[in-house]
Amino acid sequence: MKSGQYLVPVHDLINKPGSMRKAELNVITEEPLANYAIGVPSGEKLEIDLKLESVHEGIYVSGEVFGEAKGECGRCLDPIKGELEVDFQELFAYSGTSEDDFTVENEQIDLEQVIRDAVVLSLPFQPVCNEDCLGLCATCGEKILDEAQHMHEAPIDPRWNALQKLKED
Ligand SMILES: [Zn+2]
Ligand SMILES: [Zn+2]
Repeated sequence: MKSGQYLVPVHDLINKPGSMRKAELNVITEEPLANYAIGVPSGEKLEIDLKLESVHEGIYVSGEVFGEAKGECGRCLDPIKGELEVDFQELFAYSGTSEDDFTVENEQIDLEQVIRDAVVLSLPFQPVCNEDCLGLCATCGEKILDEAQHMHEAPIDPRWNALQKLKED
């Protein structure tokens, strides 16, 4: 399922150490970039600012990803969203030795894995709607907005029910 959205041509930079170029990528995600709690769903727009630098070993890429993450609060399960701004950098080497994770192929670099890793690693594991979120009430399941205003009458011990009834009679 490779669409080529993350491919960046670098033919003008190959073997020209010292030269540099900026570029911009706009991607519509085809798969979610997410952990189990939060992330960028598929079909969302990612804007990527790139700086491409020619170095002796290959092409050094650095940049920033902008997008919107969506998920749910780990305490109250309310939907939450937040702006993403994630930095990344990686060297795409010319020679494909086993030590190189990323290489220049066909005078292009493929940023998909680099960007996916950077975004997913930046996401919180336990996102909350608000640092002070009190979560859900164990008794009624409602969201506890304010501890002072959310109280239940103490459940009546069933053994007292009979006594109560006697009294009423
Ligand atoms: Zn919450
Ligand atoms: Zn309650």
